[in-house]
Amino acid sequence: MPYLSVSRILINTFESLDIPSSRIKRIVSDFRAEMSRGLCAQKSSLKMIPTYVDAPSGKEKGRFIALDLGGTNLRILELELAGNARIRSSFEKRFTLENKYTSGRQEDFFDFICECIQKFAEESKISLKAGLSLGFTFSFPIRQTGVSSGILLRWTKDFSVKGVEGKEVVGLLRKSLIKKGLNYIKIAALVNDTVGTLVARSYSDPDCDIGVILGTGTNACYRERISQIAKLKHNTLKTTNMIINIEWGNFNKLKLAPFDAELDKASVNPGEQILEKMVSGMYLGEIARIIIRDLAKEKILFGAADTTALNRRGVFVTRYLSDIEADSSNGLLKTQRLLRGLGIRNSTLRDRVLVKKICELVSRRGARLSAIVLAAVITKIDSRLLRKHTIAIDGTLYEKHPGYAQVIKATLNEIFGRKSAKIKLALTKDGSGKGAAITAAAIIRMKSKEVN
Ligand code: ADP
Ligand code: MG
Repeated sequence: MPYLSVSRILINTFESLDIPSSRIKRIVSDFRAEMSRGLCAQKSSLKMIPTYVDAPSGKEKGRFIALDLGGTNLRILELELAGNARIRSSFEKRFTLENKYTSGRQEDFFDFICECIQKFAEESKISLKAGLSLGFTFSFPIRQTGVSSGILLRWTKDFSVKGVEGKEVVGLLRKSLIKKGLNYIKIAALVNDTVGTLVARSYSDPDCDIGVILGTGTNACYRERISQIAKLKHNTLKTTNMIINIEWGNFNKLKLAPFDAELDKASVNPGEQILEKMVSGMYLGEIARIIIRDLAKEKILFGAADTTALNRRGVFVTRYLSDIEADSSNGLLKTQRLLRGLGIRNSTLRDRVLVKKICELVSRRGARLSAIVLAAVITKIDSRLLRKHTIAIDGTLYEKHPGYAQVIKATLNEIFGRKSAKIKLALTKDGSGKGAAITAAAIIRMKSKEVN
């Protein structure tokens, strides 16, 4: 590399994390074009998957178990739907998805899920024999083959369980349920987490027409007019709208900086999930690590201190971005402690200010990008922004990061001006799981109507 001054290197880094207003329009129109291509089965980085589900009526009723398989956790919930837009969540348990399962054998993975259901039942004292129906939230791209069946197109978020891609996932879960003696559990719905989130908020909010996930990964879905879904062949829905799972994490019309390219190359899915790799919790910390490591190599950070710890992939997790950005202590002592924990014993205040700045810019770029693609989806539904829109958002990144939500709001304001007041961002905690239960109830209700 030719010799560059310290300030030149820093300016280059800062610029590559910036998305100026002038570039926003271009990204919005590229995203819209990819959406349109995806809707008529042309080649597109956006799969635009029909879900055969629409928003609920709010009248869905009953007791359900929801199984929410995210990228980091498996959550199991017991829910009571009152039928008047109210949901009572009576018990919840969270299990960590360890690497030995997420990159292991198919049987072990599904058996583990069933063991979690057994533990959940023991602790919550739910009698599974009562024949409860289960809503299954599966946060990976699936081609829906029915309301309670779907084929995994490919793993994302560093999952690599063998022998599942191309298979029908509910069948695999059912096989394990039978093996474990849990055959009386009925899997009534299979939904994507974005769909669950949209459905959960819609149960009590008719303005909700978009669901977004900002957690380990990122994705969104929205209510589309059925007449606009050119590729739809066998429609069983009697409504005028259907929820489309965009799979927006795979959007690839974006400029990659050298650190993005390095992260992508080292991932399990190079060339895929480009937007996700700039936006979501699985990757933001890693982007910051690469940038900080490079600045340390150039001796712009940490002087002569030993920084070899920064060479290890994954040591700088996204939670650290939140902690550092929230550090308002005198002398940034919390950041100093955190860096020490990483093995960087000596840092000056200037080092810590710069590290904080980098964290802010990395998460700011992610939040801006998510707002820009969100703006594209909103204009697809309502080009002149004439109506109110509630955006249901679930995911720990959105919930816990100090400022992610603020940057999304500010960017929507930059794009839509005063009209952005029509857009409401609604944190929908555990929405992904709750929505699966509501969908299960809606399906059972529809089926019973068909019979009568
Ligand atoms: P999942 O994606 O598995 O459904 P979550 O929505 O809970 O799960 O998201 C988990 C991800 O959130 C973690 O992988 C991590 O990247 C990110 N995360 C966890 N804690 C924080 C935090 N305090 N600030 C920002 N991001 C966080
Ligand atoms: Mg989730």
